Amino acid sequence: MKVITSIREIQSIAKQTKAASLSIGFVPTMGFLHEGHLTLLKKARQENDIVILSIFVNPLQFGPTEDFSTYPRDFGRDCALAECEKVDYLFHPSAAEMYPVDPSLKVVVQDRTDVLCGKSRPGHFDGVATVLTKLFNMVIPTRAYFGLKDAQQVAVVEGLISDFNFPIELVPVDIVREEDGLAKSSRNINLLPEERNQATVLYRSLNAARETIEKGEQNPKKIISLIKEIISSETNGQIDYVEILTYPELKPLVNLENTIIIALAVKFTKVRLIDNLILEI
Ligand code: AMP
Repeated sequence: MKVITSIREIQSIAKQTKAASLSIGFVPTMGFLHEGHLTLLKKARQENDIVILSIFVNPLQFGPTEDFSTYPRDFGRDCALAECEKVDYLFHPSAAEMYPVDPSLKVVVQDRTDVLCGKSRPGHFDGVATVLTKLFNMVIPTRAYFGLKDAQQVAVVEGLISDFNFPIELVPVDIVREEDGLAKSSRNINLLPEERNQATVLYRSLNAARETIEKGEQNPKKIISLIKEIISSETNGQIDYVEILTYPELKPLVNLENTIIIALAVKFTKVRLIDNLILEI
């Protein structure tokens, strides 16, 4: 595995790979790798000739009061894990390399951002779409791998690829969970010990919602109330949102039909966690 820090170098590698008619699987991340990221890498490894992993904690997608400075980082450990997954190139640019001057342009996401994390983190998806546009232009991947833990991100990236005509196949990957159901996240390490136990309620509340739907409940408002009740009774975390929408359009719905997402975000002392369930009705 080769670690690359320069944009010019990753571009040259991508060009040579394309010229040799080899496929590129790309996994963009912010690092502090866990089993969720490794699942994306394994899939990329199976489906492509060359695997490129990027690790970049993108300042553009963090709000002024968010956790950019405390976002966990451990590049040495990440390198070892990436090596085990047979990554060919680990692209690890500095912020100065990515944004040498104040950007004169940014990508503004118009659709699918007035709900969920787009609503509670204004500008977040503009930052995500801007950095991905840059990374996609550098790497020119054949396939790009994204986790459904960030289901709204997958929906936004789908729009980005389609609207901007990137010749890239988006590959969504299912959520990887801890044994107790908590969705794996780099941020879990910033939970206080008692919060780590409480945090399992996120997935339990989603499963309770699924069971209620299976028993015939059709009213999204009632299901949202049930989830909120379960979360509030079992944790001190503050509910940021619980929403039920169509997926991947992320539109409000009156009755449950077709593909829906039940998504939630809960703020703990030092960390805000998200989770979701996508259901075919
Ligand atoms: P991040 O480093 O948090 O930006 O995540 C990089 C990629 O890994 C994104 O596509 C995430 O959706 C994906 N990812 C993070 N956690 C998980 C998980 N628990 N299961 C599946 N994919 C994940």
